[in-house]
Amino acid sequence: MFGAIVVKSGRIVSTGTNNPQKTHPRAGYPRRIHAEIQVLLGTDDLKGATMYLVRVTNGGKEALSKPCQNCLREIKKSGLKSVIFSMGKGEYGKIDLRDVAPN
Ligand SMILES: [Zn+2]
Repeated sequence: MFGAIVVKSGRIVSTGTNNPQKTHPRAGYPRRIHAEIQVLLGTDDLKGATMYLVRVTNGGKEALSKPCQNCLREIKKSGLKSVIFSMGKGEYGKIDLRDVAPN
């Protein structure tokens, strides 16, 4: 399971999950929408907010949830400030979006 939330000023403004059973409503065939994109679509209140990502394996362990390049591009465009992602074993990494080149 892959989960994403966006927090702004201590408040959750959007949540998303990457559920393999669910497909994008507009997709003509089964296709996953990444949790990062789903959570961006859930709110307009993204400027300066922080996204938290966590991946949990079927065995219930945290695993690496660093966003893919496509998602990172969309996250950068959205105006978010930073992304915190699980790295497994209870450790978390951080991406400061000011350090990500826009394209
Ligand atoms: Zn992605």
